Amino acid sequence: MTDNSPDQPPTKRVKYVARRPTIPALRERFADQCRYDFSQSFDVLVGPEKKRFSVYYNILTKRSRFLQAARSSRWTKDSQRPTDLTDFDPEVFSNYLRLVYTGEIFQPEQLGEDGWAEATETAFNSDLSELIKLYELADKLEDLTSVNLIMDEFLASYQEAWRMFIPSVTTQIYQHTPSNSPLRTVVRDVILFHTNPTFYEDDGGCKQYPVELLLDVLREDAKIKDRNRSNQKTIAELYDVKISDFDKCHYHQHHDGHPKCK
Ligand SMILES: [Zn+2]
Repeated sequence: MTDNSPDQPPTKRVKYVARRPTIPALRERFADQCRYDFSQSFDVLVGPEKKRFSVYYNILTKRSRFLQAARSSRWTKDSQRPTDLTDFDPEVFSNYLRLVYTGEIFQPEQLGEDGWAEATETAFNSDLSELIKLYELADKLEDLTSVNLIMDEFLASYQEAWRMFIPSVTTQIYQHTPSNSPLRTVVRDVILFHTNPTFYEDDGGCKQYPVELLLDVLREDAKIKDRNRSNQKTIAELYDVKISDFDKCHYHQHHDGHPKCK
């Protein structure tokens, strides 16, 4: 994976379609939503312009620990008072609501059978950028269900293309996520396991990537070699890894209240 083409601004967006859920999945989702009370809602003010969204109380506070805390009686003595989300982008918040209410994340309609035309690749990178924004928002809202769904989509998009992440995608991740973010782990692993050694040569492209990311790659590389001291695997065996081989929860976030996927 050595495509290190320079960043280009998006020139063309592919048409988006919803990933359609299956009938059993729809039935299960409908049954699940019937357990909610749709009669209660509250308002949130999103972005510096304070765009007002009215959201279902029982759905949003069940998904988001942040909103659950923000709407608890301790924080909101006046139930009519909106919750301030001025640090969030209204468009990204709108995408988040679509994900929570419908379970759907939009993705490119066609990847193209003839390989990756430039416009398609540009759109692909733009899609990754949107997914990163959505992930960042869901992470801040402490909605691990959404966080893990977005991660699955991020990985699926990458695995369909098997293209190296361009520098701007990794820079966006490193500028907007905490040091322990699984998104950082994904791009680190892609570089570690899926790049050609020429990546590290003077004109190999590595200089375009965030220094912090390259340091993460070096640290993980040292750990892998250290763990191998007794196993004595060859270098080829050590790095014969595909990120798609890891178990489903490898890049997920879970805690006691949000157990691992079945
Ligand atoms: Zn999981």
